[in-house]
Amino acid sequence: MPWQNWSGLESADPQTEVSPASPDQVVVAVEAAHRDRSTVKMVGTGHSFTGIAAPRDVMLRPDRLTGIVAVDREAMTVTAYAGTPLRVLNAELEHLGLSLHNMGDIAEQTVAGAVSTGTHGTGGVAAGLAAQLTGFQLVTGAGELLDASREVNPDLFALGRVGLGALGILTTLTFAVEPLFVLEAREEPMSWDDALGSFDEMVAESHHCDMYWFPHTDRMLTKRNTRLDAEPSEARPVPRVRGWVDDELLSNTVFGMLTAAANHAPGLIPRMNQLSARALSARTYTDVAHKVFTSPRRVVFREMEYAVPREAGLEALREVRKVVDASDWRISFPVEIRVAPADDVALSTAYDRDSFYLAFHTHHRSDWHTHASYLTGMEAVMREHDGRPHWGKLHTRAAADLAPAYPLFEEFLALRDRLDPDRLFTNDYLRRVLGD
Ligand SMILES: Cc1cc2nc3c(=O)[nH]c(=O)nc-3n(C[C@H](O)[C@H](O)[C@H](O)COP(=O)(O)OP(=O)(O)OC[C@H]3O[C@@H](n4cnc5c(N)ncnc54)[C@H](O)[C@@H]3O)c2cc1C
Repeated sequence: MPWQNWSGLESADPQTEVSPASPDQVVVAVEAAHRDRSTVKMVGTGHSFTGIAAPRDVMLRPDRLTGIVAVDREAMTVTAYAGTPLRVLNAELEHLGLSLHNMGDIAEQTVAGAVSTGTHGTGGVAAGLAAQLTGFQLVTGAGELLDASREVNPDLFALGRVGLGALGILTTLTFAVEPLFVLEAREEPMSWDDALGSFDEMVAESHHCDMYWFPHTDRMLTKRNTRLDAEPSEARPVPRVRGWVDDELLSNTVFGMLTAAANHAPGLIPRMNQLSARALSARTYTDVAHKVFTSPRRVVFREMEYAVPREAGLEALREVRKVVDASDWRISFPVEIRVAPADDVALSTAYDRDSFYLAFHTHHRSDWHTHASYLTGMEAVMREHDGRPHWGKLHTRAAADLAPAYPLFEEFLALRDRLDPDRLFTNDYLRRVLGD
């Protein structure tokens, strides 16, 4: 059956499709591919904008490799099968009175897909999912099942948590978890000057801070999440009707209609962004963490995201605005701004440096020429600030100019040579970013 990603930008027509239901069945599928000299790739839910998941010969589907394998309350870890969607993991963890430390904006992705591309949220002591792993298990190109943790195969653990699907097929992932916690979310519109002027302070005083800049305006939406010392039963979520009006109707339905209409009348976008930014009002609510971190995204878009060093972030953002203001682009989606503490995951965008993320979106049906020139312009600014591109989002970088951005890039390539010498797991995207 043909494969297509969420944004509709990438598609593939693999010859064979298998849905393994256990690690042993993954081994059998990999051994068969090896015998047949085929490539084999497990896909997630296709939420990467790049062709990183595109399968060529054999596609392994994740849908039967799901669920929780083990809960260790002493070590405070939970092990899940690789194909488990994050929303299922979150619901199961809530049921157990547990939670991940941090996560991104949505929970549709599989745990393996999200971890493999370096998916992250904002703030906390670890923004990236890969930095919250304590172990994983994968099947190598030789069909060998390997465990990895700080104690077992520590080199594989150090290098392979963000593995891009290039090292093997993940079967299980073990996450550090915490007791279920409640966040207070404070959303507040601000002027550009106020938001930039107080950004460092907002980051310092809240656990998770996020901002959105509406291009062609001087308006920002800021979001600050603070951990409360409260029981989940004390949470005061947004009332259902207000939540539906704000999140579904305004953020998804109206925003979808506006951005789709704007594709036909781009001249109206600056005014539309002014209106959208001004229509937002401040609100505060509390809820269990995963319900604050994630929300549905029903408007389909394309996205590029870069991490620059934290200290260069505000300067990069000012430069972004300067370039957008001087251009004739009309951009209907806000630029998202997040931060992450440094981690020790070799191919994480936050490896060894505190990071500042800038994410650039366009509507999936917006004019391709504007989309491409906006992303090219923004990528040039990101390069000037030593940026590292998100592996699952659009960018034009290739192995030769990614290597200097990652101190352990050569070690990662050597591990790939060891675990997948016959390149069972490769595809066009991996050839571009890692080489043959
Ligand atoms: C609406 C939307 C919102 C998003 N929000 C965020 C965000 O807030 N933060 C962020 O950082 N990113 C975000 N992303 C990006 C997204 O998290 C990543 O692209 C993620 O990889 C998608 O997971 P997936 O399950 O769809 O994996 P896919 O895109 O299907 O696959 C990604 C990679 O994982 C590999 N893979 C999957 N399963 C396995 C396995 N079992 N073993 C080995 N490799 C495997 C695939 O082969 C591929 O290389 C968002 C994307 C969208 C569309």
